[in-house]
Amino acid sequence: MIEYDFVNMPIVDIVNRIILYASQHRASDIHFDPREDCMMIRMRMDGRLKDHARVPKMYEKNLTTRVKLISKMNITETRIPQDGAIKGVVDGKELDMRVSALPTNEGEKIVVRLLDYSSSLEGLSFLGFLPKNLKKVQRMLDIPNGIILVTGATGSGKSTTTYSMLQELNTEDRNIITVEDPVEMNIEGINQVHVNSDIGLTFATALRSILRQDPNVILIGEIRDSETAQIAVRAAITGHLVLSTIHTNNSLSTIERLLDMDVERYLLSTALNGIISQKLARTLCPDCKRLRPTTSYEKQIFSSILGKDVEEVYEPVGCPNCNGGFRGRIALQEVLFITDRLRELISDENLDKEDLKKAVYDSDTTTLLQDALQKVIDGRTTFKEIYRAVDIDFDLEKKIRQNVRKEEREKARFEKLEVIDAYDGILSNLKEMISDIKEIKKQAKLSVENKYKKKKTDENGIEIIDAFEGVTPPSMKKENKKEEKESSLKDDEKRKENSNEKEKKKEKEKK
Ligand SMILES: [Zn+2]
Repeated sequence: MIEYDFVNMPIVDIVNRIILYASQHRASDIHFDPREDCMMIRMRMDGRLKDHARVPKMYEKNLTTRVKLISKMNITETRIPQDGAIKGVVDGKELDMRVSALPTNEGEKIVVRLLDYSSSLEGLSFLGFLPKNLKKVQRMLDIPNGIILVTGATGSGKSTTTYSMLQELNTEDRNIITVEDPVEMNIEGINQVHVNSDIGLTFATALRSILRQDPNVILIGEIRDSETAQIAVRAAITGHLVLSTIHTNNSLSTIERLLDMDVERYLLSTALNGIISQKLARTLCPDCKRLRPTTSYEKQIFSSILGKDVEEVYEPVGCPNCNGGFRGRIALQEVLFITDRLRELISDENLDKEDLKKAVYDSDTTTLLQDALQKVIDGRTTFKEIYRAVDIDFDLEKKIRQNVRKEEREKARFEKLEVIDAYDGILSNLKEMISDIKEIKKQAKLSVENKYKKKKTDENGIEIIDAFEGVTPPSMKKENKKEEKESSLKDDEKRKENSNEKEKKKEKEKK
């Protein structure tokens, strides 16, 4: 977070510094959020909001008034939403900003959007198209009439792509007219119309007039309703090249969407030249990215979607030159060039959706997911980024997850078996050792017994030098004791007998 010196610095300078910071750090939006205890300034960088500075509550009013003033808003009005714009040169760079003020329960919230179309001015080749896709786009632009649609969600970089295409077409032999809401970037040599529905100037009414202005190329900011869709298609089949955007997820749903907007099948099949679907992912910082091994799940995705074995992918690290390992954003694209076969299918009233899907995603179309995975392999973005941006086909994902689980289970089983094998090995070794020990014991006992027996048998005068000499086996000791006992018993008896005899003798003597 940045600390601004609200006590000593004029508010004019502080606002300038905030805008300069946003521009230098390629922020797309600046948020001035009124909160209970302060105002929080946040900036959106590479698609993520980050806290920028805290403004003491007592300076909040001054700050919002200054922003509203340079945006040419009514500074005395705080109860209703307002729109404004700031145009200026910041740090030598021409900057367009769109400003919006919204009354909330904590005060007025202001959002400044920084419009930076410098990437559109660099041209199509800087938008991250795979070479095959770039060729397809160029082929679409070479056809003098028809519709080229750019699709994607809000904030997917659709305007940048359409402006880049417009730049390619912007030559002196073409009359180019745009109808936009609002006009996002002023382009030299192009007639741009800003729709204003408050006074009845809608996309549809503007388009009707534009068609009488002898245009070659028409840019329609966005196709939102069926009236605009139908005029666009009619303009395309009457010799104009129409560029437009539509809010859908992919090529297939775009065709379905247009049919839902009551555009006639045969007209659409004739008019449509191509569809570019896109999403944005954060670009890995080239200064600090590093390789890591792919996970089992990622490996399966790469192999089933691209048919490639990918052992390593890049991951973000973070350095002073980037935001947490990322710098800027890259478009992930799916480019569909409408072939004669596709035209035939689209115009077929009895067309099955699955057939169209098959035809759209034939081997020649790189899907959004394939494009994204290729960009992960190329080290331009990460697996996590594209996972966030692109829907991985649900069925496919389920299958892959099951496979991974199966693989893990098998691995665990295999590891268990290995452990069991190891135990078995140790056990059989132990058994062998025990039987060896038993054998040794047996041998030792036998040899001791033999030696003892020998000694016994050779007692009659033959001297034997033996290691076991003098050692008596335990079993024999017992026998000896028995013998000793027996002998001692016999002695007792003898003694008794003797004493008896002595007593008898004494008695006899007495008599
Ligand atoms: Zn970095």
